[in-house]
Amino acid sequence: MDNRRCLTGLIRDVPDWPTAGVVFKDITPLLADPAGFNAAVVELTRLAPAEVDVVVGMEARGFIFGAPVAMALGAGFVPVRKPGKLPREVVEQEFALEYGTDRLTMHADALQPGARVLIVDDILATGGTVAATAALVQALDAEVVGVAVLMELAFLGARQRLAEQGIDIDPVLV
Ligand code: IMP
Repeated sequence: MDNRRCLTGLIRDVPDWPTAGVVFKDITPLLADPAGFNAAVVELTRLAPAEVDVVVGMEARGFIFGAPVAMALGAGFVPVRKPGKLPREVVEQEFALEYGTDRLTMHADALQPGARVLIVDDILATGGTVAATAALVQALDAEVVGVAVLMELAFLGARQRLAEQGIDIDPVLV
């Protein structure tokens, strides 16, 4: 079976979670499957452009995929976290949720100016998380050279919206 079909079968739809009307994509069966987890990391790594200096992953599932992709690429890993979690000076970016706003932070000295950054996360939904992370990278004068996600919820149209802002996303699964 090819990697993509194997991965799709390991992601479960959970209806009405966390709220009524939402179908949540549960990736925990994929993480628990050695071949599936390995295939996910291999496919995400394949999406990386040449010469990535740093992989940036977002709390929490971006850590799970971002760290092994960084190791496969010989790159460093930088975490993007929710407010109040990083111990030193941070840069911060607000972004819109369906109801209200949220914020993400990164250490202010986490990236060298000009560093070539690959952003890695599990699911692309509205695109707010990726857009905020790209803004943090750019605030430190580093360059987003790619965004690799395991799955895009294509019906939300985030990939097209982000492309208009100059952020090109490569999903393993659509
Ligand atoms: P966005 O900001 O709306 O694109 O949401 C993406 C973020 O929310 C990612 O960091 C995902 O981990 C998480 N997320 C959104 N929807 C799902 C889902 O259905 N399953 C797992 N994670 C999700």
